[in-house]
Amino acid sequence: MAIVGGGYVGLTTAACLSDLGNEVVVLDIDASKVEQLRRHRIHFYEPGLQEVVERNTRAGRLSFTTSYDEAIPGAEFAFLAVSTPEGEGGQADVSAVEKAARSIAEAMDGPLIVVNKSTVPIGTGDLVSEIVARHNEDHKAQVVSNPEFLREGSALQDFMNPDRVVIGAHERSVAELVAKLYEPLEAPILLTDIYTAEMIKYASNAFLATRISFINEIARIAERVNADVKVVAEGMGLDRRIGSHYLDAGIGYGGSCFPKDVKALAAIAEQYDYHPELLTAVIDINRDQRLVVVDKLEDCLGKLSGQVIGLLGLSFKPNTDDMREAPSIDIARILLARGANVRAYDPAAIEKARAILPEVDFLPDPYSVAEGADALIVVTEWNEFRNLDLVRIKRLMGRPVLIDGRNIYDPADMRERGFVYRGIGRN
Ligand code: NAD
Repeated sequence: MAIVGGGYVGLTTAACLSDLGNEVVVLDIDASKVEQLRRHRIHFYEPGLQEVVERNTRAGRLSFTTSYDEAIPGAEFAFLAVSTPEGEGGQADVSAVEKAARSIAEAMDGPLIVVNKSTVPIGTGDLVSEIVARHNEDHKAQVVSNPEFLREGSALQDFMNPDRVVIGAHERSVAELVAKLYEPLEAPILLTDIYTAEMIKYASNAFLATRISFINEIARIAERVNADVKVVAEGMGLDRRIGSHYLDAGIGYGGSCFPKDVKALAAIAEQYDYHPELLTAVIDINRDQRLVVVDKLEDCLGKLSGQVIGLLGLSFKPNTDDMREAPSIDIARILLARGANVRAYDPAAIEKARAILPEVDFLPDPYSVAEGADALIVVTEWNEFRNLDLVRIKRLMGRPVLIDGRNIYDPADMRERGFVYRGIGRN
């Protein structure tokens, strides 16, 4: 089988499917990534992936190419895992999917099942079928939607132990062939039509993003009425009808999926003459949530001009180096625009952040960031920030102001230690 796109989703899919005994070729148009992969070097940070890629490459089950003519002929399945970034007006940009579909068609030498893992607007599966039919009159491709639900940072674990596998196709027999590939995972498999499968992915991400914006709105209210949002979320989460996931108040969601997917779903709705009020509110609340930490900072420091502000964490969430739509980018840019000197540390994302935020000073550890700083902001809740030597941090800082954008510290404890502390949704 071929996996088209060797990024977070494609490479994880390839690593796991080859680990299950399949022969897998990963195809990426980026020659430098392919070259690195051939030398067992992965161009992004994902815990455990390196080992699985290396093991299966050495076993001869996993290989890498830039050539469709090498990857597609003879393959029974071609998975699509190319990027679908935010396009104009919030719509998903599916140009990479279209290009890949055309290249697949031109290389096909027999019938093929195209399994789409990219997150795409409803109807894109049909578009892929049309493109393949237009560019290959001799052989037919059946297109299946198989959205991916893995999370960066726990991608392997999520792929191998999914809550469910969703497979949508016009013909059930084709969906069943794809389902067979997932049988070893012993997970619930939902077979449905292709439009519903495509919609399940957007609806799932939009729902999770809604929970985050919901709890952030509750946080804003909690702060005003002297309630503690962390305990509120705990109290809510113990209700089995609600559950505790995705109820952490903070700086809001970021990353390569939630921001673009909620906007894409809203754009789809508008395209069909429906104004999605709830999704619009989710997007607006999330956009403003990034400013909350800056407001708190100004509240503590007064003017930001000339102040030294340290950011702890840059990636959009822990255990990844992914900087796509990371709240740290907006926060750093606002601080810089207001005249602050910004410095930062992240355990994995500094290399990627350097290219995006050239005016930020990147330092090798949290203590160097604290040295002489007027304030620190916890932007990403990496575990290593939970157990910092806070006595040392306070001693190093110019002023002991700590804005905890992820509520990882206890407010009473921090005040006892002499910090000027502000969390989110708790006083
Ligand atoms: P990515 O940017 O990490 O990887 C995409 C890869 O596709 C890149 O390496 C790129 O070079 C390659 N590519 C682009 N055009 C190509 C073409 N025509 N032929 C071959 N290769 C091509 O993206 P990702 O994060 O893996 O996301 C892929 C898709 O999966 C997106 O639609 C995304 O929304 C979805 N998704 C992502 C995640 C996640 O956590 N990252 C989770 C679930 C679903």
